[in-house]
Amino acid sequence: MTQKGLLLVVSGPSGVGKGTICSKLMSERDNIKMSVSVTPRQPRPGETEGVSYFFRTEEEFMKMVEADAFLEYMCVFGKNHYGTPKSYVEEQRNAGFDVILEIDVKGALNVKEKCPDAVMVFIAPPDMDTLRRRLVGRGTETPESVARRFGEAIKEIGLAEQYDYIIVNDNLDKAVGQVQSVISAEHSRV
Ligand code: ADP
Ligand code: 5GP
Repeated sequence: MTQKGLLLVVSGPSGVGKGTICSKLMSERDNIKMSVSVTPRQPRPGETEGVSYFFRTEEEFMKMVEADAFLEYMCVFGKNHYGTPKSYVEEQRNAGFDVILEIDVKGALNVKEKCPDAVMVFIAPPDMDTLRRRLVGRGTETPESVARRFGEAIKEIGLAEQYDYIIVNDNLDKAVGQVQSVISAEHSRV
């Protein structure tokens, strides 16, 4: 019999390195799939439809909300909507794949309520100066957006204790190794 895959929720403040960690993890593990979220926000340069996100209009997004198509959805930073399509996650898990959700902290805690078997991983920065440097250094945010995301980060870190695991992303390889250990341990859970 195929063992149902894990639902691994990787979350934490913007700029902490969630995307970087998940990309590396995907390149190192076979049996794992990234959930692709739906958003009405504009694609950034280099982002690809169906890979980074499914880019839809606000109207299309709201129709999916009405159709109960999301495992969770959220208005993040009081700005854009993002939602996790329910069907993909279930299909992949039932086929035995582990599925990663890389989502914001409030959305993550909603997933935990709906799916108590979700494995909750909080990625924390080594310190707040490093977090700000990474957020600015990524070069994708306006100064206003950096300020908003940084302000949110302080509140989000306060919610970390509701997670199952906290991993500090100081050294990238070490952080990825720790996520790998979490996955291995969760597969051995009785
Ligand atoms: P998030 O997905 O959490 O918003 P990103 O993965 O986009 O964050 O990372 C933000 C920036 O920090 C990127 O420029 C990335 O290259 C850098 N970064 C991520 N992890 C580390 C690390 N361990 N050490 C140094 N820089 C890092
Ligand atoms: P960005 O606009 O930088 O791609 O994403 C902004 C934030 O939205 C990030 O913290 C990201 O993890 C989060 N996010 C992306 N997809 C989803 C989703 O489907 N649900 C929730 N709740 N947050 C998401």
